[in-house]
Amino acid sequence: MPEYNDNYSFDTLAIREGQLRTNEGEHSEPIFTTSSYVFASAEEAAARFSGEQPGNIYSRFTNPTVRTFEQRLAALEGAESCVATASGMAAILATCLGLLKAGDHIVSSRSIFGTTTLLCTNYLAKFGIETRFVDLADIGDWTTAIRPETRLLFLETPSNPLTELADIEQLAQLAHQNDCLLVVDNCFCTPALQQPIALGADIVIHSATKFLDGQGRCMGGAILGPKDIVGEEIFGFNRTAGPAMSPFNAWVFLKGLETLSLRMKAHSANALALARWLEQQVAVERVFYPGLESHAQHQLAKTQQSGFGGLLSFELKGGKDAGWKLIDATRLISITANLGDTKSTITHPATTTHGRLTPEQREQAGIADGLIRVAVGLEDIEDLKTDLARGMG
Ligand SMILES: *Cc1c(COP(=O)(O)O)cnc(C)c1O
Repeated sequence: MPEYNDNYSFDTLAIREGQLRTNEGEHSEPIFTTSSYVFASAEEAAARFSGEQPGNIYSRFTNPTVRTFEQRLAALEGAESCVATASGMAAILATCLGLLKAGDHIVSSRSIFGTTTLLCTNYLAKFGIETRFVDLADIGDWTTAIRPETRLLFLETPSNPLTELADIEQLAQLAHQNDCLLVVDNCFCTPALQQPIALGADIVIHSATKFLDGQGRCMGGAILGPKDIVGEEIFGFNRTAGPAMSPFNAWVFLKGLETLSLRMKAHSANALALARWLEQQVAVERVFYPGLESHAQHQLAKTQQSGFGGLLSFELKGGKDAGWKLIDATRLISITANLGDTKSTITHPATTTHGRLTPEQREQAGIADGLIRVAVGLEDIEDLKTDLARGMG
């Protein structure tokens, strides 16, 4: 195993950290496609199973390719431990079931991934774990929602699709004053643009399916944080319950991490250019992007993030008809809800991701009928503008 010291910077760690070189001398990381591992003797098998001797037993517990991914991502997030999972949802489930019991309480931002909301309301609730949803940017709302049984505060920042921010440092303080853990789903910024643990968060969640892969190929997730919480409690749940990351997917994500920093800079540059251009279009009512001076939390975005990310949304003047017309006129941008891909994608939140909400709930969430979300990819910016201009007005 090559030796590293702790002084390497982000871009070096993203390429080098955690590599396990075998006797073959391979340069790129190998994929260990094996479900189990062989022991030298009955005695060694017994020592592994009892936990006396560290080492691989079965790939639902540990796998060398997956471990390389875990060590690399942990270095990038500044975390002690990382557990890789089969998907982002598996990471959120493992965090909740590894740490909570019946009677415990979660306070969560209302502006989170729709499936995460369903996990809380339809499934965790069945086992006596209740969730109270609050306004992401309203510290007063968070404060009054906390009860003696509250164990976790959960959020995504920036939010999707309106790109609202939470002040992570402030919410970490609130969490710790109340003996809670702050959990941040860092899917949209990735550690290349935002490092929640350095700001006081306890646990970071990833859907590796998005920007960590970066090319829309594989499902995966990760949980990062202190060794006693993530490396023991959550790992214990995950190896027992089963949603382990496949070694092939771990290898794809490792290749993704190697270009993460470059890609996030390019996504951010393209998104900022597109946001500025959209602000000037007569068909557009307003644009939501943290990199714009017009964004209500632009200052917070500048201090909390080192870049503004690849996600933006904008409201068209003509409501749903104008929204659908613009989407249907695109020839390049893909009509799909996925994000974090080199390929740009476009959606109409009011009739897709937020379609199950009542009109009142949508209005409360700020999802206007003319709202369009674009996950800005890495295509040429002029081609993206042409594609969006076609259906305007
Ligand atoms: C996609 C997504 C998830 C879920 O991840 P999967 O890999 O699809 O299970 C969780 N959080 C956010 C913010 C996401 O965008």
